[in-house]
Amino acid sequence: MAGIYIHIPFCVSRCSYCDFFSTLQLREAGAPYVEALLAEARLRRQELGADTVSTLYLGGGTPSQLPLPLLTSLVHGVREVIDLSRVEEFTIEANPDDVTGEWCRAVKSLGVNRVSMGVQSFEDHILKLIGRRHTAGQVIDAVNYLRDSGIDNMSIDLIYGLPGQTVESWTQSVHQAIALQPKHISAYGLTYEEGTRLWHQRERGEVTEVPEEQCLMMYRILAECLQEAGYEHYEISNFALPGYRSRHNSSYWNDIPYLGLGAAAHSYDGSVRRSNPCDLKEYIDQVMAGNLPCEVEILSQRERYDERVMLGLRTSDGVDATRLREDFGDEAWRHFIREAQRHIDAGNLRLIGESRYVLTSDGIMLSDSVMRDLLWDD
Ligand code: SF4
Repeated sequence: MAGIYIHIPFCVSRCSYCDFFSTLQLREAGAPYVEALLAEARLRRQELGADTVSTLYLGGGTPSQLPLPLLTSLVHGVREVIDLSRVEEFTIEANPDDVTGEWCRAVKSLGVNRVSMGVQSFEDHILKLIGRRHTAGQVIDAVNYLRDSGIDNMSIDLIYGLPGQTVESWTQSVHQAIALQPKHISAYGLTYEEGTRLWHQRERGEVTEVPEEQCLMMYRILAECLQEAGYEHYEISNFALPGYRSRHNSSYWNDIPYLGLGAAAHSYDGSVRRSNPCDLKEYIDQVMAGNLPCEVEILSQRERYDERVMLGLRTSDGVDATRLREDFGDEAWRHFIREAQRHIDAGNLRLIGESRYVLTSDGIMLSDSVMRDLLWDD
C-alpha cells in the first residue's frame, strides 16, 4: 500500500521559526506549479507499479492557500493519472484562518476526509511573536466549520518551548486543544534553525530560549494530559484517539513506499530515496521539459537498518528484532540485541512479546542517545 505526498510550497508570510521550503509567489507561480505537478504525476506514475494508493497527503507550505479552482484542477488531474479509488485517508494541511464554510465544503467534495491544522499555540501574543497569521479564536471557528461540513477527522499541530511560553501557559494550551476534541494531536519542540528570523532574534538577545528542563517538563505534561484524555501516544510527537492514527505518516515510520510530488518533495521505494529540488523555477522548468530533476540516493543495507531502527523506535510499535534479522542478517541483529539489552537494563527500553523493542517513557526523554547506541556502527 503506497502513499502519495504532494507539496504545496506557498505561504502568505514566513513564520519566524520556519525553515521549510516555501515561497510567497502563489499569485505568479500557482497555476504553472499545478501544471508541473500534474506533469510530474504523469512522468512518475509507473513508479507506483501495481501498488494500491491508500493515502493522499497535501502538505506545505500552506495548501489551504491554493485557490479552490487550482486545488480542484490538481485533485481531478491527479485522479486522471493515478488510481485514487482505494484512497482511505486524504489529508490536507490548513492554516486556521483559511478554513471557512465554503472551503470545508469544497475540500470535502474533492474527497478530503482529514484536515491537519497548524495551530501551534492558543496564546495570541505568542502567535503574533512567531509570525502566525491566525488567532486562537480563529482555531475554534475553524474546528466548528470543519465539523459543520462533516469533516470530523482533524489533527492539530502544537509547538512547545516557544519564547514567552511557560509551563502553566503550555498546560493551558494542551487543555484547550483537548477541549476541541480533535482526533489527532502532533506536538513538536521548538528548534532554532540557523538562518531563521527567530534564530537571529535569539542571537540579538530579543527572545529568550525556554530552558531544556522546562521543555522536557512541557513534553511530560503533554504526554500525561493526552493519555488521560484517551489519546494513544503512538509516536514520539504524535497522539491519536483510538482508530485515528495518521495512516499516511505511519507509512513513513513503517518503511512503506511513498511517492512525493512537487518542489522539495521526497519519495522512497524501499531502498531508493529521491529528492526534488528546493527551487520552484528549476522544478517547474525541468518537469515541463519532461525531465525528472530529482537527486537519487541508493540506501546501503546499513543505512536502511539505521532508518528502520530510528523510525521504529519513534513509534509505540517499536522495532521488531525478528524482522530486523530476516532483513539485515545475524551481525546486525546481534549488535541490536546487545545494545538493546543494555537499555532494557537501564530502563530505557522494554521488550514486548518475543521480539518487539519499545522505548519506555524514560527512554523517550533520552531517545537520541538510545537510537545512537543502536545504530549499526562501522
Ligand atoms: S505556514 Fe508553515 S510552511 Fe509556511 S512559513 Fe509558516 S510554518 Fe513555514
